[in-house]
Amino acid sequence: MLLTPGPTPVPEFVRKAMADVTMHHRTPEFEQIFKETRELLLEILDMPEAVMLASSGTGAMEACVTNLTFSKALTVNSGKFGERFGKICEAHNIDYTEIKNEWNTPVDVQTVVDIIKNDSAIDTLCIQVCESAGGLRHPVEQIAKEVKAINPDIMIIADGITAVGVEKVDTTNLDALITGSQKALMLPPGLAMLGLSNKAVEKIESKKVGYYFNLGTEIKKQRMNTTAWTAATTLTIGLREILSYIKNEIGYENLYAKTALRAKATREALTAIGCEIYPQTPANSMTTVYTENAPEIRKILKTKYNVNIAGGQDHIKKLIFRINHMGLVEDFEASWAVNSIELAYDELGLRKYDGTANKIFNEVMFKGSN
Ligand SMILES: *Cc1c(COP(=O)(O)O)cnc(C)c1O
Repeated sequence: MLLTPGPTPVPEFVRKAMADVTMHHRTPEFEQIFKETRELLLEILDMPEAVMLASSGTGAMEACVTNLTFSKALTVNSGKFGERFGKICEAHNIDYTEIKNEWNTPVDVQTVVDIIKNDSAIDTLCIQVCESAGGLRHPVEQIAKEVKAINPDIMIIADGITAVGVEKVDTTNLDALITGSQKALMLPPGLAMLGLSNKAVEKIESKKVGYYFNLGTEIKKQRMNTTAWTAATTLTIGLREILSYIKNEIGYENLYAKTALRAKATREALTAIGCEIYPQTPANSMTTVYTENAPEIRKILKTKYNVNIAGGQDHIKKLIFRINHMGLVEDFEASWAVNSIELAYDELGLRKYDGTANKIFNEVMFKGSN
C-alpha cells in the first residue's frame, strides 16, 4: 500500500490509457488530445492560461521564477520546497530575499507585508500553497490579497504541487499556480503544469527569457494545441484520462470534500492515540506526525502491515512521518494506516492497543462526528 505524499499510485485505467503505441506529437490526432487536456487543465487550475512542460515540478518552478522575476524575488522558506525557490534564484543570479521559518511554521502575513512595503525592488513573491516538507498550509490567499493591495504588479507565484487536486485553490490574486504529475494527479513523474493570470502572460510576453523554459514560446504554441519541443505525449494522454475521470466520475467538489474529511479523520485518529501533529497549520494533502520513533514506526508499518509511508528530510529526516491523502486514496487504506500506527505504538511499548485510532477514524469519516 503506497501512502507516500508523492509519488502516488497510478490507477489502472490511467496505466491502460498510456499503454498504447507512442504517438507522433505533430499530428492532428495528438493535437486533439492536447486540446482536450488543455481545456481540462484550465478548468482544474481555474486560471485563464495554462502551460504543460516536459519536466518534473521543479522545472515549472524554475520557469515561473525566471520568466516573471525581472528585478527581485521574495521567497518563503518553511521547508525544502520553499528553500528551492531561493536556490533557483541563486542559480540564475536573480536577486532575492528569503523569509525563513521552522518547517512547522507558516509564514506570517504581516512579515510579508512589511518586507514588500520596504523593498520596492521586489516584483515576485514565491510561495508554496502546501509546503510538503512538513505538510504545512501557508495562508497563500490572504498574503496574495495583501500584496496585491500594496502593488498589483507584484507577481504571486504559488507552488500548488501538493494542493491542486487536493483542494480548491482560490486563484483570484495568483499569477502562477504550479503543479506536477506525480502527486495529487496520480501520474508517473515527468510532466509539470502551470496556470497563469492575464497579467502574468502580459509580463512574460513583454520580455522573453530562457530557451527550453521560455514561457512566451510555449504559450504561443500551446494556444495552437501543440508544444514548442517534443511533447510528453504518453503523460499528456494520462493527464487527459485522470482529469476527465476527476471531472466526470468523481466531481471536483466531491474529491476535495472527501480528501479533507479523510485528512481530518486521520489527524483526529492519530491525535487520539497521542501522536503530535507536526505543522501548526496542517494541509489536507498529507498528515505529518512528529515523533522520535518515526523510523521504527515506518519500518513496522512496511514490514508487518504493508503500509509504505514517508519520513522527513534534512534536520527532521528521522523525526517525522508523513501519510499521503492526495489522489484516489480509498477510505479503507487510510483506516488501515491509522490502525497500523496504533499497532506499531503498541509494539514499541508506547501505548497499549485498544482500537482507538480506528474507532475515531470511522466515527469522523463515516458517522459525521467531529
Ligand atoms: C514534489 C514537490 C515539488 C516538485 O518536485 P519535483 O521532484 O521536481 O517534481 C515542488 N514543490 C512541492 C511542494 C512538492 O511537493
